[in-house]
Amino acid sequence: MTSSARPFLNRRLAEFGTTIFAEMSALAMSTGSINLGQGFPDTDGPEEIREAAVRALRDGRGNQYPPGPGVPELRTAIAAHQKRHYGLSYDPDTEVLVTAGATEAIAAALLALLEPGDEVIALEPYYDSYAASIAMAGGTRVPVTLRPDEGTHDGLSPQRFRLDLDELRDAVTGRTRLLLINTPHNPTGTVLTRAELTEIARIAVERDLLVVTDEVYEHLVFDDAEHVPLAGLPGMRERTVTIGSAGKTFSFTGWKVGWVTAPPALVSAVRSAKQFLTYVASGPFQYAVAEALALPDAYFETFRADMLRKRDLLAAGLTEAGFKVFRPAGTYFITTDIRPLGETDGFAFCRALPERAGVVAIPNAVFYDHREQGAPFVRFAFCKTTDVLHEATGRLRRLAS
Ligand code: PMP
Ligand code: GLN
Repeated sequence: MTSSARPFLNRRLAEFGTTIFAEMSALAMSTGSINLGQGFPDTDGPEEIREAAVRALRDGRGNQYPPGPGVPELRTAIAAHQKRHYGLSYDPDTEVLVTAGATEAIAAALLALLEPGDEVIALEPYYDSYAASIAMAGGTRVPVTLRPDEGTHDGLSPQRFRLDLDELRDAVTGRTRLLLINTPHNPTGTVLTRAELTEIARIAVERDLLVVTDEVYEHLVFDDAEHVPLAGLPGMRERTVTIGSAGKTFSFTGWKVGWVTAPPALVSAVRSAKQFLTYVASGPFQYAVAEALALPDAYFETFRADMLRKRDLLAAGLTEAGFKVFRPAGTYFITTDIRPLGETDGFAFCRALPERAGVVAIPNAVFYDHREQGAPFVRFAFCKTTDVLHEATGRLRRLAS
């Protein structure tokens, strides 16, 4: 503290401190535990894409500041990806922006689009950077909570965390500027259905709201789930900023290559903020990600099938260990309920888990404003080798005894 006893961290950020991911990864390191907390794959993405990055570096492509909006090769590849997978057309020159990961895209979008005091509706539990970015932009977050539903009694349709559309509609006020949507949803694994998204779109159009949609797990959807980009629904293209990330889709989280697609006026606004955050980032990696986006369908299918096997492996292990498992329809996270283990406090549970079982997980409560609503839920990542998942579930079975 200074002599005036004023804390260094300003009021906007005072509640945020260190992210739970850094805290839990440090705990995993210091205790030698298996880290199923922070969501990063323990295997790098495709070898040919790593080689593409090496080639770009050696050929001197991207070693100096790339163009502010991103290198043309990557912007063209992003536009082609949206067209190929969703039939959405974006102009690579005016409707695509490359960012330093999805994190910067989210921050730049909120900094650019919000006036102080504007309300932002976010689905709770929400990814932690949303709250911090809304705060940095001077906005007010208004959470709408996803709650576990009952599932069907025949057991065929699993329980999921469901969005209450009436609650969403009621949360909109005269001060609401923007809906911040995330599907597939971290941490619950919920994939919003076409019907739900259509209703969200209707609300956005009726109330004339902007929409920022974080679709970084777009290629990780399982079973019968389908990823439906909000921007493709009626009335949405002109009001929607869509965010993607090579970290998730190609398993290179350290490269920090993300992107925004939106109409020219929105891209231009987001770029205005982005140019004063990083200006540009990840030069040589941008060329490599351009190649990654053009990989054949087989890449995306294999990636998904591999993660699906891992989901089922971890879900079975967690069930055996005594957790109640919410089988995710998307993402590489499983949310569990710890109450069947006789536990109620996810924070305390996660802090003790390294000692009890040599595993690290994330307490979902950190993703809630209504912390009590998230207290009994704990998130495990399954983007790990099957050996690691076998070892982790073996250790977690100790909890059952
Ligand atoms: N959005 C969500 C929902 C995420 O889970 C993450 C992190 N994995 C991000 C954004 C940030 O992505 P990036 O690493 O590309 O910044
Ligand atoms: N998005 C990752 C997760 O949810 C973490 C990224 C980070 O550490 N900021 O685990």
